[in-house]
Amino acid sequence: MKVPLACSESEEDHPPPLRGGSPGSRTPNLPACVDSIRSSPFPVPARLWNDWRWQMKNRIRDVSSLLSGQASEADVEGARRAAERFPMAITPYYASLIQKLDPRDPIFRMSVPQLDELCDPVYLRRDPLEEDRDMPIPGLVHRYRDRALIVTTSTCAMYCRHCTRKRVAGQRDSVLSPSSMRKISAYLRAHPEIHDVIVSGGDAFTMSTRALERVLACVRAVPSVDIIRIGTRVPVTMPMRVTDELVDMLKRYHPQWINVHFNHPVEMSAEASAACAKLADAGIPLGNQSVLLRGVNDDLRVMEELCRKLVRNRVRPYYLFQCDLVRGVEHFRTPLTRGVQIMEYLRGRISGLAIPLFIVDTLHGSGKVPVLPNYVVSQSPTHTVLRNYQGFLTSYPEPFAVEPIPIDNASLGVSDLACGRITKLVPGPEPGHHRKARVVAGSRRNHKRKGFAMASASSGRRA
Ligand code: SF4
Repeated sequence: MKVPLACSESEEDHPPPLRGGSPGSRTPNLPACVDSIRSSPFPVPARLWNDWRWQMKNRIRDVSSLLSGQASEADVEGARRAAERFPMAITPYYASLIQKLDPRDPIFRMSVPQLDELCDPVYLRRDPLEEDRDMPIPGLVHRYRDRALIVTTSTCAMYCRHCTRKRVAGQRDSVLSPSSMRKISAYLRAHPEIHDVIVSGGDAFTMSTRALERVLACVRAVPSVDIIRIGTRVPVTMPMRVTDELVDMLKRYHPQWINVHFNHPVEMSAEASAACAKLADAGIPLGNQSVLLRGVNDDLRVMEELCRKLVRNRVRPYYLFQCDLVRGVEHFRTPLTRGVQIMEYLRGRISGLAIPLFIVDTLHGSGKVPVLPNYVVSQSPTHTVLRNYQGFLTSYPEPFAVEPIPIDNASLGVSDLACGRITKLVPGPEPGHHRKARVVAGSRRNHKRKGFAMASASSGRRA
């Protein structure tokens, strides 16, 4: 279709057609403001649409402009109140993936505030993973012995409604200062046990390439750091940010890994696919961390399609997270059994390479727990009974004699309890251990105060 052009020189300047529409045609179900951005008579030239700074500058931040005339007054008011508590920002690109202005649309549901975000049962928390308390210095989370996470910025291209860091993301725009970065560098040098540094946020890809390079150079200069991991949702929400300039810079800081965050197959558009290809071509292994979200991807076939699309795009499905117990996400939470059901469905249906681990990130910063369907049906000293994904039972004979693995006192674990080499396990001096001990002691004191009987450590739960 010939499109009347208002502010571009040629048809090549135009962005690719919207899903379900074409440049110059109004697609009734699209958000009015996005439709007007991309459609005739004021089309956005491709050179702007494909410019990530233009996308950042033109993020939709006002609920009324998105919903006016398209939703009931009550819904608009509910969304406005939710956005007052948790900020909203949607890139025009991501908004263009919306098919219907309706919470049943997965893209709408993940990006547009809803009144439900104000419903907070008592078990939801501001910081369920207690990251703030595992920060030895501002901007650095050190929870696990060999890993640390740097919070580089509080800005994201889009503020996901299900975000675990709602307390940070978008609440105030800030970037790590040079003096904070110097302190982080000193901390990493003083802790040579840290081999893996995760560069996170907010979203580090919203920083300028030069600012991000300063962070990466600083981390890479620490001799004990082996790998750098970047966690980003930008290839999903603003794929035009993955420029040649960015990729050329990243290539200088190998070995590194990037974890992206796709939740729904619709998010793997042609643009997102091209962004993943650029990163993969630069030799960066890509993993995906999804969150299981009610009404978005808590469906067997949706999850299968997502996993297939990811591997086709050289992205390894890494984790499927159970929704954290964070305030404002109750309407996204699913029962744990839903995740187990999805894992049951995927096993045997798609390649193991395409199956993520289903993970619950536990309270008090106690770490990630994989939750699996039960494949071990029974065990005796001579045989283990296993079932496969179809329910077929088989027995695995154990070998006659096995040499015990020598005890390594530096890394005792549950496996040492299981084979009877130790009778008691007390967690070692991990970062945050003392705080967790206090949490347990504190809750025990509280229970005593309230007159509850507490199971003692010698009650049989621990040998
Ligand atoms: S991009 Fe990540 S940090 Fe930012 S809002 Fe989304 S989930 Fe949260």
